[in-house]
Amino acid sequence: MSHSAWFQCFNGCPFRRPLTDVIYRCETCGGLLDVVHDTESLKSRSPAGWMRLFDERWMRSAWPYGSGVWGKLEWVYPTLRHEHITSFAEGGTNLMWAERLGRELGVPDLWVKMCGNSHTGSFKDLGMTVLVSAVREMQAIGRPIRAIACASTGDTSAALAAYCAAAGLPSIVFLPKNKVSPAQLVQPMANGAIVISLDTDFDGCMRVVQEVTGPGSGLYLANSMNALRLEGQKTISVEIVQQCDWEVPDVVIVPGGNLGNIYAFAKGFQLMLDLGLITKRPKLVCAQAHNANPLYLAYKNGWDTYQPMTAKPTLASAIQIGDPVSIHRAIRALTAFDGIVEQATEDELMNAAARADRTGLFNCPHTGVALAALEKLVKKGLVLRSDRVVVVSTAHGLKFSHSKAAYHEDALPGVVARFRNVPAELPADADAVRRELDRRLGA
Ligand SMILES: *Cc1c(COP(=O)(O)O)cnc(C)c1O
Ligand SMILES: [Zn+2]
Repeated sequence: MSHSAWFQCFNGCPFRRPLTDVIYRCETCGGLLDVVHDTESLKSRSPAGWMRLFDERWMRSAWPYGSGVWGKLEWVYPTLRHEHITSFAEGGTNLMWAERLGRELGVPDLWVKMCGNSHTGSFKDLGMTVLVSAVREMQAIGRPIRAIACASTGDTSAALAAYCAAAGLPSIVFLPKNKVSPAQLVQPMANGAIVISLDTDFDGCMRVVQEVTGPGSGLYLANSMNALRLEGQKTISVEIVQQCDWEVPDVVIVPGGNLGNIYAFAKGFQLMLDLGLITKRPKLVCAQAHNANPLYLAYKNGWDTYQPMTAKPTLASAIQIGDPVSIHRAIRALTAFDGIVEQATEDELMNAAARADRTGLFNCPHTGVALAALEKLVKKGLVLRSDRVVVVSTAHGLKFSHSKAAYHEDALPGVVARFRNVPAELPADADAVRRELDRRLGA
């Protein structure tokens, strides 16, 4: 079976281009592009046939299908030559039952999709394997690409640097100075990327990278305006359904910043609907930081007015974005999937993360945003006790150990650390230790 996919204008112009073209926008209207699949050809396999195929490949070693992304290759980039794939066996992350946390929050059927348990510690790996592999395919047919570049709030650059290093391609990452975590800064340094630290915020980096990667530069742009990345990220929603034995959860909560991922989620669910693997639509929730909430404000206005803003600092630094490039993609996704947007203050997001940590998780602040949104939606009656809820954990908490440590030191302005826990500093003396333990555990 030979399936096909191509770039097409998101706004509905008849503009189409092959996936090997170096292009990010529609030449007619300037809008973003979508990767569109030939669903008629994909329907030549039955829904049960797709499920069986994906289950057979799931987490096995036959290269490249053991990767959660490439196990679904026909839905991602069907014509890609396998020798161009650069993969770290990404995807297939655990969907864990958060039993104790769910009980505490009044949603016993609560699950967390652990996308941070990945090679570079965030879901960005899923998109980057597709983008870097696609660039290798472009180079093979003679496109003049010298290097791949991105602006980043920390996780995109980590993923780009790692995949480029594995492929032997130069990478260039633009980071807002002092606005990414130490772990996120050292990741591209370690992988040998050209690291450029700009005295601005993410939105400022985005403007510069778009200018620098213009026509004739030989630099390929890897930001999520690039539709190829979303094809990899959309496999998260397919994995979630697959991990629920091909049943659709009621609610899926995703933290959003530049808003490519929420659209990727909708794309994954829509393809499963189109091909008949599922019949139910989940409710999609996008969770934003109160300090960077342009989507939330547009939602509150009934989608009537969207205003870009200057994002204020947030500990959920990967979503500190005031002018999200995928705003219209996100609005389309949320409209199609009965969407809700919720927000969380710094106090709410850090405490929600820490509360969930007490049940054994180790959450990044963005997952904290999603968990705080869940708490609020339960209180508002918008998430029900009987709902099966999936919270998407977007990064590994260890990337954010500095802000988590500051939380426990109660050193974060605007945050009252309700779940604070600090080391007991004692002399090296067994009696002193026994007294402390009796005090803490009860004699
Ligand atoms: C990139 C990122 C997000 C936001 O994804 P968008 O597609 O920009 O909305 C959320 N959390 C983490 C940890 C990220 O790295
Ligand atoms: Zn167009």
